[in-house]
Amino acid sequence: MRNRRLAPNHTLVFDALKDAGRPVTAYQLIDALRGVGISAPPTVYRALNRLISDGLVHKLESMNAFVACTHTHAGGSAVVFAICDMCGGADEFADEAIGEQLAKRAIERGFALNKAVVELHGTCAKCTEPPLLIEQGHVS
Ligand SMILES: [Zn+2]
Ligand SMILES: [Zn+2]
Repeated sequence: MRNRRLAPNHTLVFDALKDAGRPVTAYQLIDALRGVGISAPPTVYRALNRLISDGLVHKLESMNAFVACTHTHAGGSAVVFAICDMCGGADEFADEAIGEQLAKRAIERGFALNKAVVELHGTCAKCTEPPLLIEQGHVS
């Protein structure tokens, strides 16, 4: 339901998350929104809940943070976040094979699967790059 019209507050909260381009905590979001005239935390939380149920925002449980969704989600895929512990960035991707595996395991246990979200922690490609080699100059 991506083209459902959002209330102005919801749009502001969503735009702030998109602008952040990385997971942010509710506190950081509230801070960022002060500049556009939203200062009441309940307003922000309400907007977040709505955006999450609309599938526009994900909550990263392991970081207690929120991130704008950059995908459309096909049913059955697992949503995977590769979260960098160095820079705090999160790369989102969907994986059908993992989704199917998890759904199978859930069925075996008689578990009614609602959604499958996997949060990976580690170091992103950018942060594992070796530091730029600084040309060795003369020490004066
Ligand atoms: Zn998503
Ligand atoms: Zn990183």
